[in-house]
Amino acid sequence: MRVGVNGYGTIGRRVADAVRLQPDMELVGVVKVTPDYKARQAIARGIGLYCTDGQACEKFERAGIKTVGTLDDLLEKVDVIVDCTPGDVGKTYRERYGKFGVKAIFQGGEEADVAETSFVAQCNYEAAIGRKSVRVVSCNTTALCRVLNALDSAYGVERARVVIARRTSDPEETSKGLVDAVVLDPVEIPSHHAEDVKTVLPHIDITTMAMKIPTTHMHVHAVNVTLRNSPSTTSVRELLTNTTRVKTVTKADGFKSTANLFEYGRELGRPRGDIYEAVVWADSVSVSRNDAYFFMAVHQEAIVVPENIDAIRAVFGEVSAEASIKKTNKTLGIA
Ligand code: NAD
Repeated sequence: MRVGVNGYGTIGRRVADAVRLQPDMELVGVVKVTPDYKARQAIARGIGLYCTDGQACEKFERAGIKTVGTLDDLLEKVDVIVDCTPGDVGKTYRERYGKFGVKAIFQGGEEADVAETSFVAQCNYEAAIGRKSVRVVSCNTTALCRVLNALDSAYGVERARVVIARRTSDPEETSKGLVDAVVLDPVEIPSHHAEDVKTVLPHIDITTMAMKIPTTHMHVHAVNVTLRNSPSTTSVRELLTNTTRVKTVTKADGFKSTANLFEYGRELGRPRGDIYEAVVWADSVSVSRNDAYFFMAVHQEAIVVPENIDAIRAVFGEVSAEASIKKTNKTLGIA
């Protein structure tokens, strides 16, 4: 599978690196708008660097950065393009990808109708098989779908209520600043995350409320799920521990905050300290009658990376969900 990546920012750089680790994929190149240090680094690492169009190419030339061609040149050479441009920009490229007969993977910043289906590998891999376009849902939605799908399969989910404390911005986005406030985002309830979960798990009854907090690393979810059965706390804890791409951590091991997780990510030795798993505090898991509660953290920059790799395999319909997830997990070091 010959893969291109359009947009080489927070998600694009990670997806490009992950593609390079797959034995059944080839990264043909990445597309950038701005001739900066990230462009130079891409070249230094042997990645084919393309610019969006002729005008952008001139900027690269003036900066002394050699590009291989334009986005259109890349589209001539690939089977699939992973669109990692900012939210709502991806849709402006949809027609162009189609014109070149290239399959497209979009990100969660796009509306659901940008693609034929929304996607979380362990929930609805089959829905993406053979599609021309797929949308990998946002970081928060991905985490919610992973845990809700596991709980639903094991006990049945009657209703989910989730409060999401969102990081203000990614670490690099200094222009957004750090605010001395908690910003309700949005003020209205439910937040868009509930509808987004339903694009993958349409039968789940869920309400979400979200606010922004002054941090740049990770989101935290306070989750309450009413189940159809009344499992024990131990049973739910074990279920989440054994769910792929969900990791449980304990207070006894020193995990009390997202700061510990951030440090842990760096200790893991993965690129950029990435944590691909939704992280659940095992000690927080508690069940009262048929209500389950827990806290979960989401590394926003990393969690969708394995999903993008599985989405690429799914659109080519070459392997099963289980085989793809296993392959991706192995290459990214997910236990
Ligand atoms: P980003 O701003 O870090 O990167 C976007 C890249 O696209 C930048 O390199 C930018 O220069 C480039 N770009 C801008 N306009 C372009 C254009 N017209 N054509 C081609 N490239 C262009 O953004 P990101 O955080 O990587 O987000 C990408 C997508 O992933 C969005 O849909 C976002 O909602 C989604 N997403 C982001 C996160 C996150 O936490 N950062 C998590 C999950 C999903």
